[in-house]
Amino acid sequence: MKWVIVGLLVSRMLVLVPPVLAQTTSLAGVIDFHVHSGPDSRPRSVSDLEIARIAKRAGMRGMVFKNHFTMTADRAWLAMQEVDGIEIFGGVALNHAVGGLNAEAVRQLVAFSGGRGKVVWLPTFDAEFWMTRAGDPGEFVPVMRNGRPDPALAEIFDLVAEHELVLAMGHSSPEEVLALIPEARSRGVQRILVTHGLGQQPSRVQLAEMAEQDAIIELVWLAVGNGEFSLSDYAEAIREIGAEHFLLSSDLGQEMNPLHPDGLRAFIDGLRREGIADADIDLMIRRNPAQLLGLEP
Ligand SMILES: [Zn+2]
Repeated sequence: MKWVIVGLLVSRMLVLVPPVLAQTTSLAGVIDFHVHSGPDSRPRSVSDLEIARIAKRAGMRGMVFKNHFTMTADRAWLAMQEVDGIEIFGGVALNHAVGGLNAEAVRQLVAFSGGRGKVVWLPTFDAEFWMTRAGDPGEFVPVMRNGRPDPALAEIFDLVAEHELVLAMGHSSPEEVLALIPEARSRGVQRILVTHGLGQQPSRVQLAEMAEQDAIIELVWLAVGNGEFSLSDYAEAIREIGAEHFLLSSDLGQEMNPLHPDGLRAFIDGLRREGIADADIDLMIRRNPAQLLGLEP
């Protein structure tokens, strides 16, 4: 590292300041696995095309477009036609809007031209756990029936396995996640992501069990931005469970929130301040997302 001599006299001593303090944190090679953008039925800060351009300019390697109500593989492909040199993927969240646990929605995800469909989220806003916790009296999309994984998941897991997709746990409860992972594994699913893994408030034992079953646990910047968790909560979990089991993403795109690259930079800087090593951050924000998406690490 080159050190800059700053002509600063403190108590008659010359002070050396590392230039990194004056630099912006690099997002080169970074993949944001959790990008919200418009059009959407919720207010978003940017459109798909805008965030593709912004992410490219920030030097990012890739993104996954997430929408709770519609498939995003088509939008990912269109954005890639407009913005060169960035990998964009899409997926489908199995909420009511696509028919719930509907295997045909997954079949269409992978059949759409462009081949950008890569992630299947189990129900998010329509998840039983989520709705119950929010006091929402509406009809949910259950993932468990009589204590067993819903039979409709069998075909869905088979498709996820066959097409090497990522199975993301959506807003399922920690208990459901721990019941669903072995079921998915038994049907050949390789890539499992626990969506904003601390958000469903698993115990440390449950979290460790998810990691032991080789699921990647997602930590999102949004939850720090809105005060749900602190960076030291995240740092503690990373130290306890091991960085190799985590993925860092933004979950940004809400109308009033900062843009995704700004959130990711704050995330990296904040974890560094908490003492997380650069090699571990690199693993969580570059290599683990790349591996899940089948890209070169
Ligand atoms: Zn989200």
